[in-house]
Amino acid sequence: MKNNDHPFEVFLKTFVPEAARKSRLLHKASWLLETTGAADAADIKAELDIEYRLLFHDPMVYQKLLTWDNDQALRDPILKRQLNVLIRAFKQNQIPKHLVEELACKEAALAQCYASFRPECDGHALSENDILDILKKESVPHLRKKAWEASKNIGDVWAAQILDVVTLRNKGAQALGYSDYFKMQLDLQEVDESWLFSTLEDLAARSESSYAATLATIEQVQAQRFGVERHELGPWAWSEPFGQSDPLDTLDLDTLVNGTDISATSENFYRQMDIDVTEILARSDMLERTGKNQHAFCVNIDRGRDVRTLNNVKQSIKWLETVLHELGHAVYELGYDENLPWLLREPPHMITTEAMALLAGRQAYRYNSLGVLLDNASTKEALRKKAEQSLRRRQLIFSRWVLVMTYFERELYRNPKQDLNRLWWQLVNKYQKIQPPQGRENKNDWAAKVHIGLAPVYYFSYLLGKMFASAIEETLKKEVGSQEMTSQKAGSLLQQKLFFPGNRMRWCELIAHVTGKPLSADAWIQQFKG
Ligand SMILES: [Zn+2]
Repeated sequence: MKNNDHPFEVFLKTFVPEAARKSRLLHKASWLLETTGAADAADIKAELDIEYRLLFHDPMVYQKLLTWDNDQALRDPILKRQLNVLIRAFKQNQIPKHLVEELACKEAALAQCYASFRPECDGHALSENDILDILKKESVPHLRKKAWEASKNIGDVWAAQILDVVTLRNKGAQALGYSDYFKMQLDLQEVDESWLFSTLEDLAARSESSYAATLATIEQVQAQRFGVERHELGPWAWSEPFGQSDPLDTLDLDTLVNGTDISATSENFYRQMDIDVTEILARSDMLERTGKNQHAFCVNIDRGRDVRTLNNVKQSIKWLETVLHELGHAVYELGYDENLPWLLREPPHMITTEAMALLAGRQAYRYNSLGVLLDNASTKEALRKKAEQSLRRRQLIFSRWVLVMTYFERELYRNPKQDLNRLWWQLVNKYQKIQPPQGRENKNDWAAKVHIGLAPVYYFSYLLGKMFASAIEETLKKEVGSQEMTSQKAGSLLQQKLFFPGNRMRWCELIAHVTGKPLSADAWIQQFKG
């Protein structure tokens, strides 16, 4: 050891290897749990989760970190940034130890309950893909309604457990001097709350009329399709349970991927950017299975080469989008500067990795990209045009859904004792303009969305990610002459500007580093307002 090492550097030399080891084991346990749903895996994950959190708990260490933060001798920006990352990680764990443990246990139980839950409909257990299938294909309204109602059953099972966890999260935040968990999370994620909500309002206001026109088209088409009046449509008129995605042309668009090997096509797509994803796919879990998590995600097991994705691929455009999306996260994780220290081998915020993933996923709906992605693209001209129209509707629809989620979560943590189901439907009505159906008064429809319980204070990242994705496309156009992702030049710009820095700067600085300006809704509005 050099004797001119700063004490913080000395600290890192013992702290980081232990954190890296525990984090790797935790991710592996979590992978076992998500791929099998096994109760043993859930137990191990919960224990490792506690151990990992407690690593960032010692108040003496936290005090030392704060002291070093004021030390003028510590000037190296990479050290300063690592210190900042650690201070934020320690801060949220300065809550009483029993709370940390209780929270980890309850969150694990919540996850397990969610993973194994299959609602019953007419004596059949339905998977999420089954429900999506019905909402996509069924044209008899009361059968659609039944499937939609079944999709909400998890809400009643989950609500009390979620509220328990929300109370604990708030207790923890209050112990640290925050009024609630939502505010604490934003602060620790380096997101300014008033900036966030004014940006969301700005986007909402500037896309209001476009959304209204899109909704009118959707309602007209669906009313005709189901043979009902517009006011009779109900939330089951959408192609998934939350009205978060475009319900039009879904079956037609799925024929785009007929006969397409979704993994191979995705691999090919990344190859156009000179990015090899073979290794990632080999480590990934791609197909549906009983007990397995029904969603999709990407995980970096060791902040090294072991990056995996979980999918439940079916022959649909949604799954082409999803596989491209998760691989987007994965290539981001594999693109960090190799010299970055372990603590900075992560995105500065989910917004920046979501932007890459969303941008990649978007290509499943882009006329030009589909030309590259599909084997027999020239025979599918009309469908590719439909996909591009669907992309615009999807952006508008999803933006409304994010507003519901974000405003709901802020309220949920501000006052968990209020009538949450009423609040939920009020927000759905206000932003998505979907009428609450009758008979939901004593239900817990707000608790049916997995993110409410398991990915708290995260949803806004998707919309900010979409805004950033549009800004990246604007940058690609300017810097490499085309917004298309299917070129080596596009790949190397993303690699060098977006992935390479890891967490060496704050997320808003990284966005300015990539696009040359601060994040706003401008590029997104420009692209999708119509
Ligand atoms: Zn994502």
